[in-house]
Amino acid sequence: MIEVDNSQSDLFQLSNEMEFGDIHFKHDSETGLNAIIAIHNTNLGPALGGCRFVPYHSTQAAMYDAMRLAQGMSYKAAIAGLELGGGKSVIIKPPKIKDRQKLFAAFGCFIEELNGRYITAIDSGTTVDDMDAIATTTSYVASTSQQAIATGDPSPYTALGVRRAIEAAVKIKFNKDSLDGIHVAIQGMGHVGYYLAKELHELGANLSFCDINPENTEKAKKAFAGVEYSADEIFDVECDVFAPCALGDAINKKTVGQLNTGIIVGAANNQLASPEIGKDLQERDILYVPNYVANAGGLIQIAMDNEEKALTKVNNIYETVLNIFQASKRNNQTPEETANFLAKQIIVKAGTKNAA
Ligand code: NAD
Repeated sequence: MIEVDNSQSDLFQLSNEMEFGDIHFKHDSETGLNAIIAIHNTNLGPALGGCRFVPYHSTQAAMYDAMRLAQGMSYKAAIAGLELGGGKSVIIKPPKIKDRQKLFAAFGCFIEELNGRYITAIDSGTTVDDMDAIATTTSYVASTSQQAIATGDPSPYTALGVRRAIEAAVKIKFNKDSLDGIHVAIQGMGHVGYYLAKELHELGANLSFCDINPENTEKAKKAFAGVEYSADEIFDVECDVFAPCALGDAINKKTVGQLNTGIIVGAANNQLASPEIGKDLQERDILYVPNYVANAGGLIQIAMDNEEKALTKVNNIYETVLNIFQASKRNNQTPEETANFLAKQIIVKAGTKNAA
């Protein structure tokens, strides 16, 4: 259950603070669809972002989740140098699903109404089959089984990008060019967590991990010989890199004091519960790589649809991280402040060019 709440905030006040964009709502009684599509910005191109299918405790929480994820997608595409805007959708998962195929087909009709301003893809709780169901009613969908490269699952590319971001952070923090002997604690051994562990294991890193789903940790233990911790203990593990690969808000007021790491890099979106946590990390001398910089690999794969070009761009994440850290040091900002500033600059410049 996603607990994110911002019930005190007015929708238009939030839109103003987050520089939106438009937000669309759809209810379909026949299939039980309750969906929100948040389009943050389209200056660089159509807004591409995944569809989450998870339970929320309120519509407000679902809306806020979609909005902040859409904003992250705008920044992610801009920093990765893609001609894409930022959007995201959520379908509030009902306690009982009448017909999953029909529900996602109805969601496809909703996307179609937006005439290509929003393109959807896989995210937490959705599968390639769901994308195929969406594709029966709209062409504005990526990560289907018919995609030109890979199988439609962007996770291996996301994991590669996170690995490259870890390598850059290790270079900056420890002046090391190799991950051999580097201890990485991974929170969440789902799609990305598993592929990340595989990459790191092959490069000689030592692994610790956790997952609330024991099936995932069992699979990982068999493959990588890492050490398993509980979901609470993982924050206390003495490590070089902490990699949040579960859901958002992993680093919050409570967990920040537990951390025993030099670096935080992971795949999860919105890892910091608030910008103040970024400052706290800086004071604690913990190097944090903004999540949307590190986890852009999946988006790059979807956007490029050409394996060689996609891999080159994903590997570039290493240089991007180095550049952001150098700029943040120069400007005495947190890495997130620097990345946000650079992303906004790119988006505004594209808007000015479009208007000319
Ligand atoms: P996933 O659902 O496959 O994996 C998440 C895993 O985290 C699951 O195995 C789940 O059991 C576990 N988990 C949930 N809460 C936990 C907790 N409190 N402690 C420990 N484990 C917990 O999702 P994924 O595709 O691997 O994505 C992981 C994160 O990265 C998500 O936040 C997603 O939005 C983000 N992300 C994914 C991609 C991608 O390509 N899949 C791209 C960009 C961002």
